Amino acid sequence: MTTYFDHRETMTHEQRKEYYDRSLSQMVELGYERSKRVKKIFDQHGLAPADIQTIDDLERLPVISREELVEMEAADPPFGGLADEQAEIERIFTSPGPVYEPHLSFDDPLWARAYHAAGFRRGDVVLNAFTYHMVAAGLTFHGGLCRVGATVIPSGSAGTQQQVQLIRDLKATGYTGTPSFLLAIIKKAQELGYDFRNDFQLKRASFGAEPLAPSLRRLFEEEYGIDTYQMYGATEVGDIAYECREKGPWHICEEVIVEIVDPETGRRLAPGELGEIVVTRLNHIFFLFRFGTGDLSSIVDEPCPCGRTSQMLSGIAGRVGDAVKVRGMFVAPSQLKRVAEHFADVRFQAVISRSGHRDTLTVKFETPSPGGEVQALMERFEMVFREICTVKIDAITCVAPGTIGENAPLIVDERSWK
Ligand SMILES: [Zn+2]
Repeated sequence: MTTYFDHRETMTHEQRKEYYDRSLSQMVELGYERSKRVKKIFDQHGLAPADIQTIDDLERLPVISREELVEMEAADPPFGGLADEQAEIERIFTSPGPVYEPHLSFDDPLWARAYHAAGFRRGDVVLNAFTYHMVAAGLTFHGGLCRVGATVIPSGSAGTQQQVQLIRDLKATGYTGTPSFLLAIIKKAQELGYDFRNDFQLKRASFGAEPLAPSLRRLFEEEYGIDTYQMYGATEVGDIAYECREKGPWHICEEVIVEIVDPETGRRLAPGELGEIVVTRLNHIFFLFRFGTGDLSSIVDEPCPCGRTSQMLSGIAGRVGDAVKVRGMFVAPSQLKRVAEHFADVRFQAVISRSGHRDTLTVKFETPSPGGEVQALMERFEMVFREICTVKIDAITCVAPGTIGENAPLIVDERSWK
């Protein structure tokens, strides 16, 4: 069994930089020549194609949000002038907005890296429960499975009873779709009198379109013997990142350039800092540079034991609108939930206020039994908080039990900007 989908996954740092810069400058050349929208954007910003030669140069271009893409396409259908109108487009997908997306060429290994890393191979029979109707999901995931040699059952949005029958009759070994739908299929199988683990051969699942809760992952793996993997992408730009067998941070695909950007300033952030995932998909049909996904994450720039050399994403910390900016760093509710997981008996609330021209982060801290160990607990809390949220707590105060309500928000922004 080959370990990697192709040689690109293990490029050296220098090879990777050279590959990305070369691919980007080719896309810029072509986009400027063939897309009237790209030419307009460049002209408005006083840029020539020669000005965008490397990943670092990308920062000179504006980020395009989903809303802006919808507006561009509405004003100039179908593709807002972003596509090469002479290109042979094999199919066009749509997603709510509406956004029209030309399907990318067959040269692109869309989703195949993710399936390969999850261990799907020739001989696998995989139920593809992503919808095939209108949207990109079904057919593009289907294509990725084909590329790794698997046999696909295009079950799409069929009901759970039918999915159970397909798994049984066709001896499906794998599943791709949302985690919640797989759970519904398992429940239906039980209802029909099957023992999912022993009666079926389904042992591997790759999930997308929905987060995989750690508790659900444990259930699939421990109760039902299903090895689970996560994939991340966006309909406008295709696959972005995926989990390898280490099930740690997600490897970024070699077909995309991912930047983490401060959504307020458009400034690119350093590894470890939380910001918006901005994606440029390298291709020669649809010239969407710097698409702002609206999802929050940070870059992990460390070697992975699997041997892939790409940068990684730390997972999805939520949506841009949910995060609160503290001294220039975004803090998302999901990060605070992660902190909370480390301190089961502690109720806390982070409060952001402003004194003078500086943001202040104080934490109200409530433990069930304040005793001598509280000081040590608070110190550990400060450490874990800083590790996960990358922001330092200014003050932490013990409050009486019952002060913080059960459903109180984990973070409160008391700053006033009048
Ligand atoms: Zn890895």
